[in-house]
Amino acid sequence: MTAPTLMSIPRQPRETQSQGLEPLSVLPVFLDLKGKRAVLAGSNPGAPWKVRLLAAAGAEVDVYAPEPSEELRTVPGTEVAGRVTLHERDWMPGDLAGAAFAIGAFDEEEPCLAFVEAARAAGAIVNAVDRPHLCDVKFGAIVNRSPLVVGISTEGAAPVFGQTVRARIEAMLPQGFRAWVAAARDWRESVSARLHGFAERRRFWEGLTDRAFAEPDRTPTEADLSELLSRTEAAPKGGAVTLVGAGPGDAELLTLKALRALRNADVILYDDLVAREILDYARREARTMLVGKTGHGPSCRQDDINALMVSLAKSGKQVVRLKSGDPLVFGRAGEEIEACRLAGIPVRVVPGVSAAQGAAASLGVSLTHRDAARRLQYVTGHDRRGALPEDLNWGALADPSVTTVVYMPKRTLRTLLERAVAEGLAPETPALLVFNATRPTQEAVRGCVCDLADRVEAAGIDGPALLMVGEALALGVDAGSEAPSAETAAAV
Ligand code: SAH
Repeated sequence: MTAPTLMSIPRQPRETQSQGLEPLSVLPVFLDLKGKRAVLAGSNPGAPWKVRLLAAAGAEVDVYAPEPSEELRTVPGTEVAGRVTLHERDWMPGDLAGAAFAIGAFDEEEPCLAFVEAARAAGAIVNAVDRPHLCDVKFGAIVNRSPLVVGISTEGAAPVFGQTVRARIEAMLPQGFRAWVAAARDWRESVSARLHGFAERRRFWEGLTDRAFAEPDRTPTEADLSELLSRTEAAPKGGAVTLVGAGPGDAELLTLKALRALRNADVILYDDLVAREILDYARREARTMLVGKTGHGPSCRQDDINALMVSLAKSGKQVVRLKSGDPLVFGRAGEEIEACRLAGIPVRVVPGVSAAQGAAASLGVSLTHRDAARRLQYVTGHDRRGALPEDLNWGALADPSVTTVVYMPKRTLRTLLERAVAEGLAPETPALLVFNATRPTQEAVRGCVCDLADRVEAAGIDGPALLMVGEALALGVDAGSEAPSAETAAAV
């Protein structure tokens, strides 16, 4: 009988839909009030700020208040945009004619309700200060770098939280962004007239955004426009392949380069081990295709993956080949890079956090240690047929001053550990198997070389796993390195 091979169950690349849409507690929409009529009735303490906001958004605001507060009186004449007119009388139904937006600012519920109903009947969008149950729309916290505007809502659940988020975003967005975003708006037409393809335009806007982030306080000039245009035109065109490391699971371990590649991709070919949240960073229009190879389940053939990748790039697509961990660690990246080169397709690699790094960090163990581990080695637990590789360097595996990380260790765990002991590895050497590293389902089974296989069998845990062996694992965080972060410490 021949041993079953890993590739025995064929599978075809399969188009998948990115999920990603969680329930939204409110829908943020941005209302253009320039030149439109808005009405505010009443004079409660929230009124003056609301009037200012409406006017700042360019509205023509009529305020009806028989007894306006001192503060409300001071608003007309201080407008930065729009216009405010104060009418010192009660509102009347006719006042609502043509109003796009209406705000009730009453101390009492009853007059507010009457106003809200009349405003709705007149076709206005309605808000009532401090009365969320009467509102069609609510105001959130604002970060204003017009034309760049950020609105923040906690749906009234945690206003202080919202304010803190606002302060953080304020700090992230320099005032100078106003000028850059305004320039983008003004240049839009010239860019569209000169650059035709989607990918090219996108490259231009990325170049502009990079400049804004690099020099937020410089005012962009026409020289920026022409330089960015010529640079975009000079850039190589056509499809390309980027091998991107998706990391071991936690989406926050993605690099900024990986994020950018995902945002630029027309098509993403991904493996089963790639966490689905990571696909949410892709553009909504991007095609996503599962081209997974699993250790024991159905697998796409590597040749089919290479051919698909090359043909998509040849048709002009930006292809991201999204691989778990680091693409250059046990990822058959060499074959994919070679296939691209042979076909004359430009190929780049964006590294990722390999499963070993992710696991070590979340367990709070150092892979090297001045006293216990001078060397670190990554090996694979099975060969093409799924058996223990014949050519493992057993002398190196039995070395007492090494940390060994075994990828794909599950099928051959017991044999590998027994053989390592037979080759001279001390049976009491610390060993652990970590499942689903960096994911919410992470679990580690700890033991030593002589009992780990039994412990793992008894635990019956599912998911991708790494075997880690070596004295350094017993020592926890390296004494010579930094203290673990709070997050790491909590996970230990
Ligand atoms: N390029 C990947 C490895 C791909 S080989 C990397 O750099 O991490 C696939 C193997 O990686 C799995 O069989 C498993 O041994 C390991 N692996 C990947 N993700 C893992 C995770 N989140 N937890 C534990 N092991 C993982």
